[in-house]
Amino acid sequence: MEKTEGEILQERLFNNKKSGWNKIFEEEKREVFKFADDYMFYLNQSKTEKEIVSNSKEILLKNDFKDLREVQELKAGDRVFWVNRDRSIYIAVIGSDKLENGLKMVGAHGDSPRIDLKQNPLYEQNEVGLLKTHYYGGIKKYQWVTTPLSLHGTVVKTNGERVSISIGEEEKDPVFYITDLPPHLSHSGQDSRKLSEGIEGEELNIVAGTIPFDDEKVSERIKLNILKILNDKYGIKEVDFTSSELEFVPAYKAKSVGFDESLIGGYGQDDKVCCYTSLRAILEVQNPSKTAICILTDKEEIGFCGVTGMESKSFERFIVELLEKNGEIAPGIMEKVYENSEAISADVDAGFDPTFSSYYDPINACRLGHGVCICKYTGSKGKSAASEAPAEYVAEIRGIFDENKVSYCSSELGKVDKGGGGTIAVTFANRGINTIDIGVPVLSMHSPYELTSKFDVYNAYKAYKAFLQQ
Ligand code: MN
Ligand code: MN
Repeated sequence: MEKTEGEILQERLFNNKKSGWNKIFEEEKREVFKFADDYMFYLNQSKTEKEIVSNSKEILLKNDFKDLREVQELKAGDRVFWVNRDRSIYIAVIGSDKLENGLKMVGAHGDSPRIDLKQNPLYEQNEVGLLKTHYYGGIKKYQWVTTPLSLHGTVVKTNGERVSISIGEEEKDPVFYITDLPPHLSHSGQDSRKLSEGIEGEELNIVAGTIPFDDEKVSERIKLNILKILNDKYGIKEVDFTSSELEFVPAYKAKSVGFDESLIGGYGQDDKVCCYTSLRAILEVQNPSKTAICILTDKEEIGFCGVTGMESKSFERFIVELLEKNGEIAPGIMEKVYENSEAISADVDAGFDPTFSSYYDPINACRLGHGVCICKYTGSKGKSAASEAPAEYVAEIRGIFDENKVSYCSSELGKVDKGGGGTIAVTFANRGINTIDIGVPVLSMHSPYELTSKFDVYNAYKAYKAFLQQ
């Protein structure tokens, strides 16, 4: 049947917003699923920012990238990385053009919301050994109780010796646990607390053991027994917790979700999904004209701050080293580099959740299966504290995506005055770099088990690769 005038006009003028699963070919679908398997493998190995850095470094070394500190001189096509205190990593493929003519940067963050140990954590109460914690990032605390947790981290002794600890990931390992009241008791108090106070910060105590040390002459025998186990295994004493970074994360593995297996469930997808997709993208960048940079930063979840966060001048140290080794050091060059550079803040956004649809603007929220989401502005309540990409830059990005058949949709985090948030976009923009937020829609963001679409994950990889390869 012939199309009507209205149908033809609609096709030409409307922004056709359909799920990518509608028009996918069998071969591409296989690629999408294979990519998701590789991603889930990486996710299961990389639950903390330090593991993101060490595993990414290993992948880089296998793909002919060299430690920039060990390279004397750079030339076009060289592949290097620079690790900042084992917690963030900056990766570069040197372009044929001068650095002062600008860099192409994609920045993701390897840290995710979690439960950190306090510096004086261990105590014994009513015959249970417990650990005090201070959560990291924006969590809904009630989601983190009664779920198996694994322990990852480092204890550093005064002689500089670093003790790495990982308990709870192997099949034979024990896990850790935070308790909650049974409904039989909570109705008399806890049930009438506000949801945000259902579990309070000081109630996030980790159960660590119940067997007392076999000597009735001493007090705190359970605590003593736990310390003896730790001392036998790791050679540490209670005071060593002072200089430790011990993180509790969900112990379970990432899995395909749904009868059709189209989705991925996993801990820390904010923002490890962008770490993996941008890492894969830079591995495949070949002889770019502009130098391509991939950043896996730390401390995004608590405000981009600290010596390993994106606000840190440590990032400038990396750029200076690139300039030095490329023979381009000159007064005022850093500002020039930034002025000519372009960045993508590669971070997740809140995907539309049909169960909680009233929290979203259904016309502007990003949706699972629609590809990467382009977020022109972040911030909240009148775009406050936003990084907003200039329309000219958004148009350029759209052009790159169209040319490279990247599926994308636009996004906004929640209804006006109801939602909002920030990413490292501001840290690029403040340096004078054109910046835009582009990432993967996530459901149940910041929960112990977040949900993404395999289609979107694959398109994030395609998007970052198309951008970096320019
Ligand atoms: Mn994020
Ligand atoms: Mn986040």
